[in-house]
Amino acid sequence: MPEAIEICDDRMCALTRPGASLQKLANGAVHSEGPVYFQEDDSVVWSDAHGNRLFRWSATEEVSVLRDPSDYQSGNYRDLEGRLVACSSGLRAIIRREHNGEWKVLVDRYQSKRLNSPNDLVVKSDSTIWFTDPPYGITQPNQGYGGEQEQPGCFVYRFDPATGEIDAVVTDMVRPNGLTFSPDESILYVSDTAAFNISNGPHHIRAYEVVNGRYAKNGRIFAVIEPGQPDGLRVDENGNVFTSSKDSVQVYAPDGTRLGKILVPEVSANLTFGGSERDRLFITAGKSLYAIDLNTHGVQRP
Ligand code: MG
Repeated sequence: MPEAIEICDDRMCALTRPGASLQKLANGAVHSEGPVYFQEDDSVVWSDAHGNRLFRWSATEEVSVLRDPSDYQSGNYRDLEGRLVACSSGLRAIIRREHNGEWKVLVDRYQSKRLNSPNDLVVKSDSTIWFTDPPYGITQPNQGYGGEQEQPGCFVYRFDPATGEIDAVVTDMVRPNGLTFSPDESILYVSDTAAFNISNGPHHIRAYEVVNGRYAKNGRIFAVIEPGQPDGLRVDENGNVFTSSKDSVQVYAPDGTRLGKILVPEVSANLTFGGSERDRLFITAGKSLYAIDLNTHGVQRP
């Protein structure tokens, strides 16, 4: 068994690759978050969320800075056209890099009030963008430009870039942060990071039924994450849920059983599948970017 792997359930063994080890690909960030993979040039773009920069790693070139400053960009994803879409904690907005390279604000308000500070996002197969809106960009001095909270809570939103329509789909969480859909998009998983700075705050992942492709209903606690709290989430082709935590990336079966851990020497924040077969897990942790080869495949598009 690779030394970076801790087994809690035999099902974890089938997900790992004998001899695979955790590799450190890059360091030098203040706080790494939001990795997104580009298959066309085997590269990863990720945020130095507290350093206010955007980085790029590639298999063949040196690490480079894509944006400086980045307006405290945090979560990154790609839309169905391959464009980079991102959460901007500084601009309190969802932004997109157009095909000509320019960045555009897609949405920064809900019911005429400014968003808190979008943190993480996913693009659904119908091209809608689902994102979380905790307040860290306005409450934490190293994660945004400050300001007043205008929204009555911290919600998960569904935004349709084709129509501009925005709906609050989850309103019963304290600090929604990372999110992902199950492979068939019937379940929406959302992490709550309230324990980060609220005593006795939740540190769990909730699972919601996705109804009619556009509503999130009947939320339940899927898993309580320790140590630390869950942040970024991804699923593999079998519906296993991968979550960051203080000591590792933890893996949960769809039934909520913890299968095991991928131990990471820095506190992990986010993760994404990549590689030509989608079987390489890229992890942003502390000041660094890591990767490990697995025997399973992510379902993230494109
Ligand atoms: Mg996050």
